[in-house]
Amino acid sequence: MADKRWIAETLFDAHGFRMTYAVKRVLYEMQTEHQHLVLFEHEFFGKMLMLDGATQVTTRDEFIYHEMMTHVPIFAHGKAREVLVVGGGDCGIAEEVLKHKSVTRLTQVEIDAAVVEFAKEHFPEFTKPVLADKRFDLVIDDGMDYVAKTGRRFDVIIVDSTDPQGPGKVLFTRKFYAACKRCLAAGGVLVTQNGVPFLQPAELVASVGHFRGLFADAGCYVAAIPTYVGGHMAMGWATDDRRLRDVPLKTLAERYRRSGRLATKYWTPEVHKAAFALPRFIVDVLARAKRR
Ligand code: SAM
Repeated sequence: MADKRWIAETLFDAHGFRMTYAVKRVLYEMQTEHQHLVLFEHEFFGKMLMLDGATQVTTRDEFIYHEMMTHVPIFAHGKAREVLVVGGGDCGIAEEVLKHKSVTRLTQVEIDAAVVEFAKEHFPEFTKPVLADKRFDLVIDDGMDYVAKTGRRFDVIIVDSTDPQGPGKVLFTRKFYAACKRCLAAGGVLVTQNGVPFLQPAELVASVGHFRGLFADAGCYVAAIPTYVGGHMAMGWATDDRRLRDVPLKTLAERYRRSGRLATKYWTPEVHKAAFALPRFIVDVLARAKRR
């Protein structure tokens, strides 16, 4: 019997460790114009997508990240109509956004058409409902160029990007965040994929430092995602409306009721509130984020 193949996540090589996954079957592998893409089946996590050696999504734990990146800003805002997703290739975030009937238009700006094409075939649970929804608008472009050029304004901007390497690097710059601020409607909120503070503190320090130079309220909230190893995952938070981070539990519960109690497996009004209560070591990381 041929030796089992193991695929390693190389994202933390600099820390001297690798998560390796026993491959049941490789479903798809290619070098796209922008990055190396491999999708394989894993006994426990189901389908796993890796881009440039970093785990992006698995069918077993995707709901945690996708729900927290989506429902926290949308329920905090309370009247989000226009939503922009930057990145988001697999459409997992888009699927959660479109659960909100109050959202009138969702625009997704993805740099790599190959990721969306492959997701149509391999993640139909995300792409089917999304691509069938008239409110959905897909733009193949570099997120930096799009936010720098667009004349549209958004209530919520969700940056579901890869890590600050390769095509994703520009999405962690002050230039990008300043352009996002320009595209936010009054009272709008920006949330960003911002790594795992225990292993990637510099990423959070840099982003929140930029946010502090641009927005009245800057920080992060957290959730624990099994395959984003290293404990809490940080989701960057930036807005000029300071009230949004502290919407009363009663109001969140009422907004959830009015949303028809859309289906979630992680997000609840209580989890939403708790996500902003940060452990001290992350508060200390944020304290290092000087205005830039
Ligand atoms: N949830 C995943 C994570 O936290 O690592 C990210 C998932 S999603 C697959 C990331 C997407 O960002 C990829 O499809 C990638 O092509 C896209 N992306 C990277 N850089 C981009 C850029 N500059 N503009 C738009 N999309 C970009």
